[in-house]
Amino acid sequence: MACPICNSNQYSQTLFIKDYEYNINSSEKYLNCSSCKLIFRERYIEEKDEEILYEKSQYTPVKGGIIYDCLKKINAYYEKKVIFKHTSNGKSGKKITVLDIACGKGYLLRELKKNTNINCYGIDINATENIDDVKFIQSSYKNLEALKKINAKIIIINNFIEHVEDLKHIFDIINSVKKDSIFIIITPNSDSKARIFFKNCWSGYHAPRHKMIFNISNIKQAFNKCKSIDLEIHKMHDPFTNIISFINLYKELKNSFSLFIFLKLIISPIFIFTNIMNKNRIIMIIKKK
Ligand SMILES: [Zn+2]
Repeated sequence: MACPICNSNQYSQTLFIKDYEYNINSSEKYLNCSSCKLIFRERYIEEKDEEILYEKSQYTPVKGGIIYDCLKKINAYYEKKVIFKHTSNGKSGKKITVLDIACGKGYLLRELKKNTNINCYGIDINATENIDDVKFIQSSYKNLEALKKINAKIIIINNFIEHVEDLKHIFDIINSVKKDSIFIIITPNSDSKARIFFKNCWSGYHAPRHKMIFNISNIKQAFNKCKSIDLEIHKMHDPFTNIISFINLYKELKNSFSLFIFLKLIISPIFIFTNIMNKNRIIMIIKKK
């Protein structure tokens, strides 16, 4: 299969990644493009199969949990600070509309809503009732009519672009919005030290759910196809996903014992602690021209 970004057929690596979070008995093939270094799932996942992968009663970002909710709330506070820093919209008195695409339980929106000058909307295939003055719309992110109706100034795509089978759908959204709209796209960075340390147990794969795992250079290359935009790319912290990688490592050890994995698990807390200050995520700020 050709690389979805650069079309190369050369791979430097073939990876088989287990679904550690939901079904350790299944694994998925990923290819690492030797030209642009994109890591991508070889298989195309049909929409009907997505319903099983993101099943409401199973999938944590929709289902939540006591510890998960707590960590997500802390993380949402940090994400809000970073978003305001890059859009300078937190302090302005003017009321603005923010839309979060594939918002899950809406942790970030509920944090943003604490600023009374923001109208918050979330679109998610699993969204249900409105909470804390955030309006949730149950719909696919491909529903351009629904997106246009909301007419948001800031559109957030947080931990979602890596799930999308074809980036064309993201470019369609960007092309459909009005001039001066701002997109905030946040995604894992394949150049992170955590990927090297945790190897196949790295949470950034989230196999088979993640389609493409980018680095700064190849995501920039991908967005070259998108016209009429100003693009800024930065790195940002990712304090909690190492905990998921750590749990994945533990599951791997439980599944098949190896001394190497055991020792790695022992030293993981040291790695996680020293890795806290590293910026392992990519944030893109896209202004529509
Ligand atoms: Zn490539």
